[in-house]
Amino acid sequence: MQSTEKYNSTLKFDFLFIGLGAANCLLILMLHENGLLNGKTIAIIEPDGKTTNDRTFCFWATEQELFKLKLNTLVSYSWSNIEISGIAKQPINPLHYFHVKGIDLYHAAKSCLLNCQVTNFATFFTGIPDVKAEQFELKLENETLRAKYVFDSRPPVFLKPKNNQTHLNQSFFGWKIKTDKKTFDTSTMVMMDFNVPQNNFTQFVYTLPFTEDTALIELTRFGTQKLLKSEAELILDEYSKALGVSFEIIETEQGVIPMSSANMEKDHYGSHWVNMGVKADMLKCTTGYAFHAMAEDAIVQMEAIKNNQLQKRIIRKKRFGFYDRLLLKILTDKPEYGKIIFETLFKKVALIKVLSFLREKTSITKEIVIFSKLPKRIFIKAVVKDVLQRCIRLPLLFYPFLFTILAVFLSVLNFEYIAGSILVVGFLTVGLAHGALDHLTSRKVKNHKQLFYFMLNYVLKGVLLGFIWYLFPDVALLIFMAYSMWHFGQADFKEWNLIQGLSSFFWGFTVLMTILSFHFVELSDILKQIPNLQIAIVLKKISEGQILFIQILTLGLGILLSVLNKSKYMLLTLIYLLLSSMLPLLISFGIYFVGQHSMHGWRHLSTGLNERSSTLWKKSLPFSIGGAMIILYALFFAGQQAAGLFFIVLSCLSIPHVLKMHQFYAMFHRS
Ligand SMILES: Cc1cc2nc3c(=O)[nH]c(=O)nc-3n(C[C@H](O)[C@H](O)[C@H](O)COP(=O)(O)OP(=O)(O)OC[C@H]3O[C@@H](n4cnc5c(N)ncnc54)[C@H](O)[C@@H]3O)c2cc1C
Repeated sequence: MQSTEKYNSTLKFDFLFIGLGAANCLLILMLHENGLLNGKTIAIIEPDGKTTNDRTFCFWATEQELFKLKLNTLVSYSWSNIEISGIAKQPINPLHYFHVKGIDLYHAAKSCLLNCQVTNFATFFTGIPDVKAEQFELKLENETLRAKYVFDSRPPVFLKPKNNQTHLNQSFFGWKIKTDKKTFDTSTMVMMDFNVPQNNFTQFVYTLPFTEDTALIELTRFGTQKLLKSEAELILDEYSKALGVSFEIIETEQGVIPMSSANMEKDHYGSHWVNMGVKADMLKCTTGYAFHAMAEDAIVQMEAIKNNQLQKRIIRKKRFGFYDRLLLKILTDKPEYGKIIFETLFKKVALIKVLSFLREKTSITKEIVIFSKLPKRIFIKAVVKDVLQRCIRLPLLFYPFLFTILAVFLSVLNFEYIAGSILVVGFLTVGLAHGALDHLTSRKVKNHKQLFYFMLNYVLKGVLLGFIWYLFPDVALLIFMAYSMWHFGQADFKEWNLIQGLSSFFWGFTVLMTILSFHFVELSDILKQIPNLQIAIVLKKISEGQILFIQILTLGLGILLSVLNKSKYMLLTLIYLLLSSMLPLLISFGIYFVGQHSMHGWRHLSTGLNERSSTLWKKSLPFSIGGAMIILYALFFAGQQAAGLFFIVLSCLSIPHVLKMHQFYAMFHRS
């Protein structure tokens, strides 16, 4: 291998390895074995010299697998029995538990490169590559590197865990001890011995006996807090003394492995930029084992290169991710259950089956048998929680969609009033409340005086529209329709991250026109209740054919908008609006207004104002009650004209809100 002098130039390589850790070393071994490094120019970016035994790798496999993975020459120890928590040791035939020293792997990989043209860069790569015509360009401090293939094994960046995801650590601290007598059975390793204080975590001792008088005794913790050396030493001291022999500590070992069901930051630079190792999701988060998976992946990557194929990967079955998520959640919420779960598992299920399950090599029927042996209540609770938390993360749109189906079903059974009552509650809680927070979105309201002027201004706008209703009801209706369309489109587009403008207005138009045109008769009846409205007379004269034409035109516009904006949400909205045409107008409108529009608005307010929903709701309460009183007062005197008056009052209450929300979106949600 040769080193590179630092100068500003572009260096070209066939293969570029970012990191020379386990995954890339395994790949180098495999490429070398298949003659794929011959004649290749290679670059390695690795800040560490990789000259120490910084970690050891253990894994279970059959002898045949070991040879297939080309790891046979690297194994320094192996065991054919495993013991768990003092439960009788079990042979794991045909498997063995193998031990590979990190330093041996690094040396082996480096010696594969001895006859190659290799350039080392002892630095971190932290940038973003430029992708240029099947080449990647990486800028280092003094050089620019260009490569055809990049194998990136930098540590992954985990995203913030979602509700049902968790991020724990597997932290461990161990002593390699030498005893004064023959103490250990060299055919048996202890995978988990839970006979140690749990201290509100899941903790166990892991023992690797290398000879009859030397062993690694390691305390491992699954938990949110990492194990401290002082804590571990106390427990290890007790544990070692219980062996009943004198011992000396000849080495110590310490490490942390992430146990995370959170998603990782993904970069997609193209098929020849291959993420490796932990970054490629090779680490099983509930066990911390990755080595076997990485060794298998090295074969897959080697074959892809050999056959000049695009990036290939063994696809992990989704259900294993689900199991891992559940277990991590349990270990986070109830760490004391860890000991019960693992001990029960190993007591009731043959070890060889558990090992195969942990390597994700079991069939679903075998998994069901395994689960049937586990403490069911703990897992059922975790499943219910997981499902609920996933539902909370569903796009908001699913709720009005599902509610429409429920409402249609109730209507068929003549229980329409149930859907209606739910919507009234929704209107009074979310519908009115989302419009009762405008004082919080205004930067000018900082004291009671400003709040008073804000309220005055707010009420005046409503009263002004009231006057327009009184004097020119047709103009007021058109104004009401126009700003409702604008406002509905604005909230939906914001939620779906689409660009506001004419398109969002047309979307609002589509929503409102779909609801109204499919309830034409009811609409005419309601409009008749508004005095002096000429439009009501015009509408009465519209024929069924013309209504059909308007409906087709509206739906066509909706479909066109969803295609232009590539939005499945628009299509879903159109579908449930169409379904809701089987329901009365007020219910159909209520589903959209409460279930979609107000929910979207609420979410934007909560994010923009950085407040929890419960806090916002409390703050909205006085104004919601005020709004509800105004509506109820008006309806009390309305008599036969209740629905018409309801829309007039609603329009007067909503005009200042629409204007305020417009400012709010511009202020807090610049996209
Ligand atoms: C202490 C410990 C013990 C483990 N024991 C086992 C075990 O017994 N069995 C098992 O199956 N799994 C084990 N694992 C899990 C897993 O096998 C290892 O984490 C393994 O090293 C992962 O391989 P990797 O190539 O993804 O990462 P690493 O081996 O960590 O390699 C990444 C390399 O990238 C380098 N690097 C980091 N940042 C940059 C950068 N910005 N630019 C360039 N280079 C960078 C690092 O210096 C490092 O050399 C263990 C993990 C740890 C931490």
